[in-house]
Formats: sequence, structure tokens, C-alpha cells
Amino acid sequence: MPTHTFPPLVAGNWKMNGLIASLKEVEALKEKLADANPRCDVMLCPPFTLLSRMNKVLGDSGIGLGGQDCHWEPSGAHTGDIAAEMLADIGCTAVIVGHSERRTDHGETDEIVRKKAAAAHRAGLVSIICIGETIDERKAGKTLDVLSTQIAGSLPEGCNAANTVIAYEPVWAIGTGLTPTVEEVAEAHAHIRKELAAQVGGAEEAARVRIQYGGSVKPGNAKELMAVDNVDGALVGGASLTAEDFFGIISAAYL
Ligand code: PEP
Repeated sequence: MPTHTFPPLVAGNWKMNGLIASLKEVEALKEKLADANPRCDVMLCPPFTLLSRMNKVLGDSGIGLGGQDCHWEPSGAHTGDIAAEMLADIGCTAVIVGHSERRTDHGETDEIVRKKAAAAHRAGLVSIICIGETIDERKAGKTLDVLSTQIAGSLPEGCNAANTVIAYEPVWAIGTGLTPTVEEVAEAHAHIRKELAAQVGGAEEAARVRIQYGGSVKPGNAKELMAVDNVDGALVGGASLTAEDFFGIISAAYL
């Protein structure tokens, strides 16, 4: 049985959404969470432009702040990129790396993701490393092989339960309203847990690594998905943009 050293993590990925006015949703979320004491950690990952202001709004609420991506170098001539150290400097404690939208839109390979995760750890950040199969890969029966390859390729040396979170996100479930069955989620998460052992120095440490499910998590399906074995929280896209939906997910699964 996993030893739950760390509570589940429900993280909101705002992607390329949100203006300064959107911070009212963060104020509302803070209010809703103030006396709620959920059995999970909560984090928001807004676009870079909102990190600093959001950090101020979050204050001492206990809601964590994360980036959505980082470069692997600590500084240098990389126009438009952000270093992990810059995220740490501005108050982030984590960064998402290898999201399928980055893998697709920016051609990020497992090797690039591995370098980014290593950079996150170098800067003292938790890396939230995203993996997941496409619909063609699932239909071809390759889901578990794809996950094994991504785990072997995307995790740098030195990963452990304190510095790494895995987000299992079937690409076909992201933003589509589709979700895998609970049996499919259970199969994927059990496989990820098993494969992690080789990456984090054994099954005991692997049992402590948080494995989030991501892909069309909503208030209406969160309880069922979060109750699946080896699911330790959620990475939430669209439904993290409003306090009502994001809190709805947290309260359905962890209150
Ligand atoms: C995501 O992009 O990480 C995600 C899970 O998106 P959505 O919840 O909108 O499917």
C-alpha cells in the first residue's frame, strides 16, 4: 500500500487564459477554501504574465503557485523563454513540464522534457511531468508501452517523491469532455507506479510519488476519478478557470 507522505495535489493549469481581471476568481477560490480544509494540496499555474500578481493575491492562503513551462538553462540568450530559477524567484514552488500541448505545439521530445524537469529540480521546484497516449496509440493497444517510454525518457536522475509529480493525461481526453473509464485509469496509474520504481530508486519511493489524473476533470466526475487506486490528485485545465468549478472538483473529491 502506498504511504501517503504527501497529500494528493489538485493543480489548475490555466494555459493561455487569464487577464488581470481573472484574479477575481482567485479571490473567490481563496474565500471558498478558507475554512474548507480539503484533504489535498491545491495549486494554480497561470500564464507567466499573471504569476507575480497572483502570488500576491494568494498570500498566505496555502494555495501553491506553479509555472506552466520552463527552459532548461538557468539564464542566457533564449528570447521568450523563462528559466526555472526565475519561477522560483517569483514565488513558484512547481512547474509543469512536458504538457502534451507543448509536446505537440513546440515539438518537445522526452529528452527536452527531461532537461526541463532537471532544471526544475536544480531550481528547487517540484516538476509536474506530463505523460499520456494519443487516441491512435490507445486504439492500437500501445498505451502502456507509450507510458513506459515516456517515463524512461522524461524523468531525469534524482527524481523522488518530494520533487516529482507525474500527471497522466490521455491526450484525447484533454479539453474534449471525454474521459477514460475508471478501469482504464486504474490500469494506467498502476502501470505508471510500477514503472516509476526504476526511476526513483525502488518501489517504496515510487509508492510515495503523486500520480495525478488529467483530462476533462469536472465537478461531476472528480469524485469517481479521484477514488481510483493510485490516483493522487488531478491536473485540471478548463475547469480550473472559475472558482466555482475548481472548488467544485476539490470539494467533490477531497472534502
Ligand atoms: C490539461 O490541459 O492539463 C487538462 C487536463 O485540460 P482539461 O482539464 O481542460 O481537459
